[in-house]
Amino acid sequence: MTVKRIALVGECMLELQGQAFGAMQQGFGGDTLNTAVYLSRCGAAAGLQVLYATGLGEDSLSAGLLQRWAQEGIDVSLVRRIAGRMPGLYLIEVDARGERSFSYWRDTSAAKAYFESLTTPLEARAEEWDAFYLSGISLAILPPAGRERLFGLMRRLRERGALVVFDNNYRPRLWPDLQEARRAFMQAFELSSLALITADDHQALLGLDTLESAVAAAQALPVPELLIKRGALPTLVRAAGGVWQEAATERVAKVVDTTAAGDSFAAGYLSRRLAGATALDSALFANRLAARVIRHRGALIPREAMADLAQ
Ligand code: ADP
Repeated sequence: MTVKRIALVGECMLELQGQAFGAMQQGFGGDTLNTAVYLSRCGAAAGLQVLYATGLGEDSLSAGLLQRWAQEGIDVSLVRRIAGRMPGLYLIEVDARGERSFSYWRDTSAAKAYFESLTTPLEARAEEWDAFYLSGISLAILPPAGRERLFGLMRRLRERGALVVFDNNYRPRLWPDLQEARRAFMQAFELSSLALITADDHQALLGLDTLESAVAAAQALPVPELLIKRGALPTLVRAAGGVWQEAATERVAKVVDTTAAGDSFAAGYLSRRLAGATALDSALFANRLAARVIRHRGALIPREAMADLAQ
């Protein structure tokens, strides 16, 4: 069994859920961390090693996060504990009708400061992994200098033939303006060997009128391996030098919560692709995992609910 290693970079925040000045439930969440957890669960049997890079503080909540990630089998040796910083935080309030609203405290989070050091474990150990994963949110939270360091790292990895994976999660309010977001995303596409595109997000980024035009624009991106997700519609898949194929999604009678649909899709895809499966088979598996995740509440579903997929 050849051991493969994948490093992921991004931000995971503390989560509070409840009523203001009432009881609150603690948790954590973040797109790239969700992907790391599902990758660890689905890839462990094939010997996949998953490393997560982010900034945390020296506080007890940061220590609690590290402990929980390690319990999921994630290697946390790329995490930097940054003095004077704390993890970002978000609050989910649920109103009487069950509608959820989100508030964020993340402007000075430790994750933003990851590259504020002459070197980082992510850059120092870049020769160690076969694949590297980041999202549009990993890009958005970094100040411009940090983003340049991340682009430099992608370039280095791509040059030595590592799989460089970009997931286009686009969150407009994390960007100062649309132009800066577009520039950063285009650079990330150019430096990636595999892109996972949510058609809706690509449509918003480019300001296009229809989903069809966003799909056409995504198909023309200069990325060797491309996947285009369209919710319940079949996923479009093209391996390097190949033709476009369609991977059917699963029929889900009752969608409970779509949080982490795309994050788990990425994990399902990479867990199979890195083990040598074809792009099409990997996408079919990814659709099965995402369909399972959206049948449950929350980003991270119980392990028992996916035991059959974690082999
Ligand atoms: P994202 O979460 O990245 O915004 P999508 O909404 O496109 O992305 O969904 C990601 C994946 O989740 C899809 O490719 C599919 O596998 C699954 N999915 C989402 N919605 C549905 C649905 N209604 N029925 C079945 N699968 C779905």
